[in-house]
Amino acid sequence: MKRGITLCSRCFFCGETAETVNHLFIQCKVTGQLWSLFLRRKNISWVMPGRIEALYSWEEAGLQAKNRSNWRIILATIWWTVWKERNLRVFENRESNMQQVKLNCILILCFWCNDVLDSL
Ligand SMILES: [Zn+2]
Repeated sequence: MKRGITLCSRCFFCGETAETVNHLFIQCKVTGQLWSLFLRRKNISWVMPGRIEALYSWEEAGLQAKNRSNWRIILATIWWTVWKERNLRVFENRESNMQQVKLNCILILCFWCNDVLDSL
């Protein structure tokens, strides 16, 4: 319990296992839908690593991407989206449906990529 809020050790997305960094950002099936969103669009086959430290493989998967800088931003976009949605569920007892989570992720990516392009 922290500041009067009871924290659950279960993943707030799938509820199937303990919430760890590796589970939340890499292995959770809900997070996996965000990874798939971008991988399918680029028709890239990628084996999800078991640990965050192994994500250099994301860089390799993006070798086919037209804009490799934006490809790197996708990683941060997915994690930011997951973290924001996780905190919405934990601290505000609200949740977005999966379509809204995906839309939020795409909007953040567009915003960040435009920001990067504007700063050049
Ligand atoms: Zn999960």
